[in-house]
Amino acid sequence: MKRITIVGGGQSGLQLGIGLLQKGYDVKMIQDRTAGEIANGRVTSSQCQFDAALTLERDLGINFWEDDCPPVEGISFSVPNPEGPGKVIEWSSRLDQKAQSIDQRVKMPRWLAEFERLGGKLIITQADIPMLEVEAKSADLVIVASGKGDIGKLFERDAERSPFDAPQRALALTYVHGMTPRDNFSAVSFNLIPGVGEYFVFPALTKSGPCEIMVFEGVPGGPMDCWRNVKTPAEHLAQSKDILSTFLPWEADRCRNIELTDEDGILAGRFPPTVRKPVGTLPSGALVLGMGDAVCLNDPITGQGANNAAKAAGVYLDAILRHGEQHGDHPFDAAWMQATFERFWQYAQWVVRWTNMMLLPPPPFVLDIMGSAQVLPGLAHRIANGFDDPRDFFPWFADPTAAQEYLTSLQAA
Ligand SMILES: Cc1cc2nc3c(=O)[nH]c(=O)nc-3n(C[C@H](O)[C@H](O)[C@H](O)COP(=O)(O)OP(=O)(O)OC[C@H]3O[C@@H](n4cnc5c(N)ncnc54)[C@H](O)[C@@H]3O)c2cc1C
Repeated sequence: MKRITIVGGGQSGLQLGIGLLQKGYDVKMIQDRTAGEIANGRVTSSQCQFDAALTLERDLGINFWEDDCPPVEGISFSVPNPEGPGKVIEWSSRLDQKAQSIDQRVKMPRWLAEFERLGGKLIITQADIPMLEVEAKSADLVIVASGKGDIGKLFERDAERSPFDAPQRALALTYVHGMTPRDNFSAVSFNLIPGVGEYFVFPALTKSGPCEIMVFEGVPGGPMDCWRNVKTPAEHLAQSKDILSTFLPWEADRCRNIELTDEDGILAGRFPPTVRKPVGTLPSGALVLGMGDAVCLNDPITGQGANNAAKAAGVYLDAILRHGEQHGDHPFDAAWMQATFERFWQYAQWVVRWTNMMLLPPPPFVLDIMGSAQVLPGLAHRIANGFDDPRDFFPWFADPTAAQEYLTSLQAA
């Protein structure tokens, strides 16, 4: 029986670990926080996942919150009028299949329990390089799925695939109860404030039941880059409301009665989006393979990280199972590791490209696309559903000529 060690019990590590256990593999998970510490700690993400990622979890039978988690039924998009009240762009469209966001403080403890129930060996400690060396000697394959954890720096930054070397947004999360639902259908309500940043909000499931997650993406140095002096949860909530009353009064209207879900339902931080080379070489020469945010870290602006992590786990699971079927005892060598990541990258490159585009000021042709979606419901529907599979944005969302041809064809139809 093949022995696999996974460092990091998050979205990708646990999903892969559980999938491997279900197929009879011997899996060890090294995870730095206990289930209790995760459950009683701070929120880590807004983790909205779309259908393709949710389907991977359903396939493993680990979608334990299918009925309890409120659905996200669509996407809405607004741009406030820079010269006065109201909006210059406003549209919304339904997703073909619901999205869902389950607080990782709820999800990961339950998945850790499932991992152990299936016979996985869980070691609670912070892995370091000497520990990876030990694992690389005893396991057939070591996968590092440590998210933004420092140990991921053992993978070399891929400068060609990483256009930014500094954070592009000041991020903040505010988990609340008591928000007024939007009309018609629930949605990721996405607001783009040119030069200032983005705000999006959607329903989710947290420890105390259904909630809304407010996500703030402030352009560095701008007025939404405002969290450094916020010291208490009450100040964080007040700052969140203040941003909305200044820039997005329609969103502020929904927030008259909000309160924090809990004192840990807040987060502020920033990081540079970074793609790393997926094969890491330890001092002894032994190799480890990176997965998820450890090697493909996106800004949350497009809500893709947990989706990507789930899809990476899906690709890696399939590759490990196929390797077992086709090559038996052949080792998981550098070529196999690189090929496995490249299979994931065939998909992820489009996510990274789209996400990085969204961090830059939108060029006129993108504003034209987003504005045209107000009068072209088919376009709005395609943009909304592109969140589930961003490959569908290319080439027309990235190239002015392709955009013009596509818009012309839609208008003619
Ligand atoms: C503000 C914000 C909002 C977001 N919103 C969304 C969203 O709406 N939709 C979406 O799809 N994604 C979103 N994401 C991204 C998403 O949360 C991540 O991409 C996803 O969780 C990555 O999964 P992962 O398995 O790579 O790592 P993680 O889920 O981060 O798991 C890594 C695990 O490894 C552990 N670890 C780290 N170092 C070590 C070590 N040395 N030894 C042992 N264990 C270690 C960590 O404690 C953690 O448990 C958001 C992220 C942020 C910051």
